[in-house]
Parts: sequence; structure tokens; C-alpha cells
Amino acid sequence: MDTDVVVIGAGPVGLAAGALLRKRGVEVVVLEREAERARASQAIGVTPPSLGILDELGCADELISRGISIRKAVVHSRHRRLGELSFAPVAGRFRFILAVAQHHTEDVLRTQLGTGHVRYGVEATAIEPPGADDQDAGRVTVKARTSEGEADFRAQAVIVCAGARDHLGAGLGLTRRRHTYGVQFAMGDWEHDPREPAAREAQLFFTVDGAVESFPLASDRRRWIVQLPGSGSPAGAAAPGGKRIREQVAELVQRRTGIELRLEDCRWESSFTPERSELDRFVLEGGTGRRSGLVVFAGDAAHTMPPIGGQGMNTGLADAARAAEAVCGEINGAEYERRRRRAFRVAARRARASMAVGTVRGSVASGMRSAAIAAVLRSAAARPLARMYAMQTLPDARPVR
Ligand SMILES: Cc1cc2nc3c(=O)[nH]c(=O)nc-3n(C[C@H](O)[C@H](O)[C@H](O)COP(=O)(O)OP(=O)(O)OC[C@H]3O[C@@H](n4cnc5c(N)ncnc54)[C@H](O)[C@@H]3O)c2cc1C
Repeated sequence: MDTDVVVIGAGPVGLAAGALLRKRGVEVVVLEREAERARASQAIGVTPPSLGILDELGCADELISRGISIRKAVVHSRHRRLGELSFAPVAGRFRFILAVAQHHTEDVLRTQLGTGHVRYGVEATAIEPPGADDQDAGRVTVKARTSEGEADFRAQAVIVCAGARDHLGAGLGLTRRRHTYGVQFAMGDWEHDPREPAAREAQLFFTVDGAVESFPLASDRRRWIVQLPGSGSPAGAAAPGGKRIREQVAELVQRRTGIELRLEDCRWESSFTPERSELDRFVLEGGTGRRSGLVVFAGDAAHTMPPIGGQGMNTGLADAARAAEAVCGEINGAEYERRRRRAFRVAARRARASMAVGTVRGSVASGMRSAAIAAVLRSAAARPLARMYAMQTLPDARPVR
């Protein structure tokens, strides 16, 4: 099959890239190896720059109606309220962080793209850049496996959005550097009473025993995230000693905040080991023309960072927007590479720093941390901090409307 652009992977990044290209009138096919996407809640924080991209596509308001607009985060130690971080100083129309389960973000992007443009159950197995003596000079071939057998997709450009476990980069001779941090987090989505006064606020607890983060979600739910003590226990449905993830979360939330979570109210649970990884090249330019033969990596296929701070999917959506510009010839491949690598590296450093604040232990260090947080939240530094968490100060952030 011949088309203008093949996108590999129908996660949020691939769907956004596809929808942005369709909006420019580009013919696009998105290949997804699974028969359907799992409806997991995963990335729940959509920041103002990402809402700006969705707005360009005309679907920001639809997504906003499905989530909770978080306008402030309240910060606590174990025993007292340290202050709050308001998102009011954030520039533009979206002065909040939208909390919405990732499958809703994917739903609205898929609708925008048009479901007919996604080919489910088609796994890309290899990418062949154009050869110099190729009859099809300038066209990239994506080899794929479908339920009916092998298939070839030829296009002027390919955007790889196949997630963190992607092997297509390795097939092109690219390498991925990985770094883990030796810590583990557990999380769960709990039923929550929407009449509580703080029901629409993010709550962050920094205690001597470790940190707890809690975010409102639609459908009267709340996400609770805890760092496991020590180097944590392995990911999976059950931890050593037979404790399920939800039991660990409930126990640590109770110990660190005094808040009781009932196990029977838990609706989703997961654990993760933060990791940073980065492909050595985000772009391969194989063709003769400015736009032809381009292979661009975006989202988790290009890079991953610790989810603390909620930047992974948002950085990927910004990649998608620039990748669409690159394959349309509005920026060149080198510019994509430079801009998106820099944005990723700054975001990854911030994610690491956010994680470090939460891992401070011991009563003296923890007391100093509480005093410092309270002082920052009362000071003029709270404004740039709000813009930083809203991802507006990241390099290559899109202009705010
Ligand atoms: C528990 C958890 C919580 C998170 N919380 C946040 C958060 O709050 N905020 C945030 O910004 N980020 C968060 N993240 C990260 C976020 O979920 C990812 O960054 C995001 O899903 C990446 O999107 P993607 O489209 O790049 O890749 P993915 O979502 O991984 O999608 C890749 C798709 O490609 C398909 N695919 C793979 N290989 C092939 C192939 N060869 N051919 C065809 N299809 C293929 C896969 O089946 C998949 O559907 C979280 C992640 C986890 C696990």
C-alpha cells in the first residue's frame, strides 16, 4: 500500500501525529499491532501546551469536559499544611492541569483522526529506508505482519510512535541508553466522595516516611501514588508476602498521611519503576528531497522519563506536533532532532528533581524540606514554579494562546 506518511503505534502520540497530519490534508495510515488499545488510566495529567495542541485539532473542549481541571495543588507535611501552588499565573486560556484518564485522551484523538485511518492488528516488523538505486527512491518501506500475512506499506515519511519497548530503532542500527533509579512506585485509582471540599485539588504530602501524591479524576475517583520503601518490591499484581499493590498503597497512605483508603473502593492498581531512556538519534534522513525518506521517532519510542511530574505523554504530544511539521517540510530533520532532544533532556532533569524532593528521608532533612517548600510557596518563586509544572517553561514549548 502507498501513502504519504505511515505512523507506527496508535498510542496518544501516534494518534496525535496522525490527526495533525490529516488536518494538513496529508494522507496517513496509523499501524497498531494490538487488535484494540487497553483502556488503562496511566497518564492522567494533560498540561496547557498539550491542551493547545488538542485545541489546534478542535478537541480540547471535548477532553476538558471528560476530566477535572486542577487549578491548585495543596502541599502538606505529615502534620501540617505547607501551602498551595495555584495555576492561575499560567499564561493563556488553559490555566489548569487537566486530570483525565489516558484512554479518554486517546478516544478524542482517535475520533479526530478518523477511525478508518487506524489499522489495528498490524505489526510493523522492519523499516527499510530508501536505497539510492531504488526505483522508489525517496520512499520508505514499512514491513508489516497482519492476520492475513505479510504486507508492505510505502510512504514518503514514517513516524515511529511505538512506545518504550520499540525494537524498530534497533533494526535501523540505533541504540537506546537506559538508566533506572533503583526506586519503585505503586499507585491506584480509588472511589472518592466528590462532595469533599478538596475533591478537585491535587494533594501532595512530603513526610518523613516518604511522599504521597493524590490527584482527582473524573467519575468520582482519585489517583494515589506512593514510593515504596527501600528499593521497593518488583512490579506485578502481588508484592512479596502476598500483599497486593492496593494493600501497599492503602497502608503507606495511612502511615504517611493518616488518610484511610478502603481496599474495596480501589478500581485500578499498577506499579512502575522509573526509568530514563533515550535513543541516540531521533531522525534518519534517507531520501533525496527535504521531505522524502524521513524516519522520525516520537514519544516513548524516542525517550522515556520518570512519570513523577507527569511529563511523559505531554512531551510525546509536543514531539508529535513537531514531527508533523518535519514530515511536511516546515522544519528540517536536524531541527526536530535538536529541539526535541533538548526539550526531553530538560523535562527528564525536572522529573528526576521532582522525584528527589519526594525521596528525602530522616526527620531533620524532612523538616528542612518542609520549611523550604513552605517558604517557596509563599514567595514570588511560586509563579515560575506553577508555569514550570504546567510545562510552559520547557524549551520548544508551543506559544500560548
Ligand atoms: C502507570 C503509568 C502512569 C503514567 N502517568 C503519566 C502521567 O501522569 N503523565 C504523563 O505525561 N505520562 C505518564 N505516563 C507515561 C505515558 O503513559 C506514556 O508516556 C505514553 O503512553 C506514551 O505514549 P506513546 O504513544 O509514545 O506510546 P504508547 O502509549 O506506549 O503507545 C505505543 C503503541 O504502539 C504500539 N506498537 C508497538 N510496537 C508496534 C509495532 N511494531 N507495530 C505497530 N504498533 C506497535 C503499541 O501496541 C502501543 O499501542 C505514565 C505511564 C505509566 C505506565
